[in-house]
Amino acid sequence: MLKLVIANWKMNPASYKEAQKLAGAAGQSVRKYRRVEVVVCPPFTWLTDMSHEKEYGLEYGAQDVFWMDKGAYTGEISPLILKNSKVKYVIIGHSERRKLGETNEDANRKLKAALANGLTAILCVGEDSKIHARGSAAVIKFIEKQLRECLKGLNSKSHPSTGKPNYIIVAYEPVWAISTNPGAKPDNPDQAERVILAIHKSLNSMFRAPHPMFRVLYGGSVNGANAEGFLNKPSIQGVLVGGASLKPREFEKIIKYADAVSVNKNKKVSKINK
Ligand code: PEP
Repeated sequence: MLKLVIANWKMNPASYKEAQKLAGAAGQSVRKYRRVEVVVCPPFTWLTDMSHEKEYGLEYGAQDVFWMDKGAYTGEISPLILKNSKVKYVIIGHSERRKLGETNEDANRKLKAALANGLTAILCVGEDSKIHARGSAAVIKFIEKQLRECLKGLNSKSHPSTGKPNYIIVAYEPVWAISTNPGAKPDNPDQAERVILAIHKSLNSMFRAPHPMFRVLYGGSVNGANAEGFLNKPSIQGVLVGGASLKPREFEKIIKYADAVSVNKNKKVSKINK
């Protein structure tokens, strides 16, 4: 399976012109390095214009979604609107939404609504620095609870309303590693891998079999200099990138590593960075 690189632009950039430049650069990188899947998640205003344009050759995702398809919900964007705007992916439960009050229950409703509309959900989970300081057993316990609550009521069968199998991406994003948080630093790839293996294990036991319905990624201060360490791990099936996705050269390096790993998993990726 190809590695997946997801760009979360957050509330950037400030103009459509800049957004076009960024998407143009990402599109160029994707044409250069084809053995990688790339999804770009711009702010809503730029998202729908871009998802209708085919010229960049990218897949698009939203950064959030509401759980109702239509109705009197001022300010919200429904999964039905996203689907009808040719948007294929949606981030759910990002720590920056959780900071504004989003709960696991909210994420669960959003996830079900997104899947019912045939969108691929990118569910973010991850511990804050206090839980991190308590050690890996506490981290894994916390993340298992997030997974149980966010995925409650889902099963590995086809979703009744779309007839397609559920397809969910879980992004392990330790909150303390998100680049905009004070004192942030990337997780170490071995440590991230330990948590991600626990996530795979927990998903397999919740859904009773290793199932292609899930992919698990790492996110948190990934950049051109450290992407290799994460992407080289077979259990880390891709990366979710915030800040570095706004810097075309950095983002291209990440795509290049992801492509190299997909091309030959046994070759040392560092050799291609010359
Ligand atoms: C994110 O916003 O999901 C993220 C991982 O951000 P950053 O790469 O900037 O840490």
